[in-house]
Amino acid sequence: MDRKELVIIGGGPAGLTAGIYAARASMDTVLLERGVPGGLVIGTNLIENYPGFSEGISGPDLMIQMEKQAARFGCQILSANVEKIETNDKEFYLKTDYGEIITGVIILASGVQPQMLGIKGEKELVGRGVSYCATCDGAFFRGKRVAVVGGGDAAVEEAIFLTRFAEKVFVIHRREELRATKILQQRAFQNQKIEFIWHGVADEILGKNLVEAIRVRDVRDSSKTLLNVDGVFIYVGSTPNSLLLKDLVIIDEKGYIITDENMQTSQKGIFAAGDVRQKLLRQVVTAVADGAIAAVAAEKYFSELK
Ligand code: NAP
Repeated sequence: MDRKELVIIGGGPAGLTAGIYAARASMDTVLLERGVPGGLVIGTNLIENYPGFSEGISGPDLMIQMEKQAARFGCQILSANVEKIETNDKEFYLKTDYGEIITGVIILASGVQPQMLGIKGEKELVGRGVSYCATCDGAFFRGKRVAVVGGGDAAVEEAIFLTRFAEKVFVIHRREELRATKILQQRAFQNQKIEFIWHGVADEILGKNLVEAIRVRDVRDSSKTLLNVDGVFIYVGSTPNSLLLKDLVIIDEKGYIITDENMQTSQKGIFAAGDVRQKLLRQVVTAVADGAIAAVAAEKYFSELK
C-alpha cells in the first residue's frame, strides 16, 4: 500500500493546478486521473477568455502545459481510477485499479461529465452521429447537416465551431432566449449557416446505423417536426462526478460538493476544487483558482496534523 501526503483526484485544470501548488510546497503528491490528463477542456477548440492569451489558446495546448508544469515540480501523475474511499476519520484509504493508497489529505477535482438527454436513439447512436464533443468529431461532418441541442455557452460556441465543417447547423433550444454570453450569441446570429429552432425539444434521434434525423417537439403546441441531419451534438449542461464522496461529504441536490471559501468540504482532510463543487461560475479561470486555494489549504491542514 502506497502512502502519500496528498492525493488529488482528477487531472483537469483544478487538479493540475492543485498539483503545481502542492508539489511546489514540497508535499509528496500523487494526482490520479482515470482518463487523459486535461479534463473536459481537451475537447475545447479555442479558449478565448482565459487571461494571458490575447488571441486565445486551444484546450489541448493549455492542458499539456499545465500537465508539464505539475510534473516539473514533482507531482506524480498516474493513470488510475479510484473505485472507493474509506476513512477512519484520520486517514483515507483509496482503492484504485493501480493499487491501494493511504493518505491524510484528499483534493477532489473530478469535474463534471456531459449530461445526456435520455431520449430514444441517443445511447444507441453515440459514436454513430451522436456526440458530446464537436472538437473531437466535428470534422466527420464536412458538407453535412447537424443539429446542436442546448442554448448555453457550450452549445452556441460549438455550433459556431461546427460551421467550419457542416453545411448547415440547427440549434435546437427549448426557449426563445439563449443562456449563452452575448458575444457568442451575436456571432451565432450573424452566422449564415446557423438556424435556430426556438421552443424546441429533441424527442427522438432516428437512424439505423447512423444518425438520419432528429424529431423536434414544439413545447408550445406539441407539434412535431422531423429534421434530416447526419449528426446530433448534445450540450445540455453537465452532472458532477461526485459519487465517490457522496457518503463522506455534504453535496447539494444536484450532486455538487459544498465547500467553504477555502475549498474545505464538510469532512476534515477532504477538499474539493473546480467544476465538481457548488459555485457560480464554472470556467478554466475559476477552476485553476480553486485548485490553488485547495492546495494551500491542504498544505496548511497537513502541517497542523503533523
Ligand atoms: P449550461 O450553461 O447549464 O446550459 C445548458 C443549456 O442546455 C441551457 O441552455 C439549457 O436550457 C439547456 N438544457 C438543459 N437541459 C435540457 C434538456 N433536458 N433539454 C433541452 N435543453 C436543455 O451548460 P453549458 O453550456 O454546458 O455550460 C456549462 C458551464 O461551462 C457554464 O458555466 C458555462 O458558462 C461554461 N462554459 C463556458 C464557455 C465559455 O466561456 N466560452 C464555453 C463552454 C462552457 P435553459 O437555458 O432553458 O435552462
